[in-house]
Amino acid sequence: MIDKYKRSIDYARISVIDKCNLNCIYCTTKENINFSPERGTISDSEIIILCKALSQLGIKNIKITGGEPLIRNGIVDLIANIKNIDGIENITLTTNGIILDKYIASLKKAGLDSMNISLDALDNDLFKSITGHNKINELLKNIEMALEYNFSSIKINCVLLNDLNHSEYVNIASLAKHKNIFVRFIEVMPIGEGKSQGFISSEMIKIELEKEFGKFEGTTRTLGNGPALYYNVANFIGKIGFISAISNQFCHKCNRIRITSDGSIKNCLYYKKNASIKHLLNEENFKELKETLYDIVYEKEKSHDFDNTNESRNADMENMSDIGG
Ligand code: SAM
Repeated sequence: MIDKYKRSIDYARISVIDKCNLNCIYCTTKENINFSPERGTISDSEIIILCKALSQLGIKNIKITGGEPLIRNGIVDLIANIKNIDGIENITLTTNGIILDKYIASLKKAGLDSMNISLDALDNDLFKSITGHNKINELLKNIEMALEYNFSSIKINCVLLNDLNHSEYVNIASLAKHKNIFVRFIEVMPIGEGKSQGFISSEMIKIELEKEFGKFEGTTRTLGNGPALYYNVANFIGKIGFISAISNQFCHKCNRIRITSDGSIKNCLYYKKNASIKHLLNEENFKELKETLYDIVYEKEKSHDFDNTNESRNADMENMSDIGG
């Protein structure tokens, strides 16, 4: 799909659940007790119809996100069925990794191409204070395990929560030293609970990391479908990447749309959902679904407006756990 600013849209992030097994303080306010999808969450068959329509419109890359996608019942079969759709070239997952060991072998078999794993702290107490759970050891074991499965890439996402996890950046970056991992530092976005976090730019962190590891060499090539800019670091097997949505806006090359777990389309992280398409996610309405998707994506907003301190009436007030990141 091409939008009215001539951007080519070939990537969709689908949130399959809004619940999570962690309670990251910058991401959610929900007490996540009951993990089963609730009424209103898009069903497997609705997601498959959606993906068929998207692929016929030129979407080649699908990211499965949440909440925590691995707590959705039947997630592996869902991924396998999406991967089998004609035109879908890449299916990837973003996960907190806590229960990855249970699914990793079957995810690989299902055709999952690559994975992003969130990791904001290595220190046990800090990890617990950010996520509400004492699970860092499980997560680290699962990252090691994931590396053995020959996915096309394993990326670690660390959100720059400044004072909260600043002490961790050097150690987290070091994960890419001995392993073929892409460690990405992501500027916190002022969305929901993310608004109460102190901001620090990725450039500041890059300077600090270079003091520790030596000058980073720029790669012009981005990896995967995302906006991260990756650097080579001397003596590192992996790479270090930065996603600078606030300090270095990349909306002019945005290639993505989002579908939330209630079946709404969201063209831009900043703005409210554009429309609910849940009623169109069936065989009878397939033609209308495609036309609606096409029309909405055509109108994709030119850029986010996170710098607007007055907050436009169109700004989304939801948490990232409702959107999928
Ligand atoms: N549970 C999965 C996970 O942990 O990756 C998927 C959902 S989570 C919402 C997706 C990503 O969004 C995570 O890497 C998380 O750190 C990131 N995220 C959440 N709130 C954010 C914010 N305000 N700014 C930047 N990234 C955020």
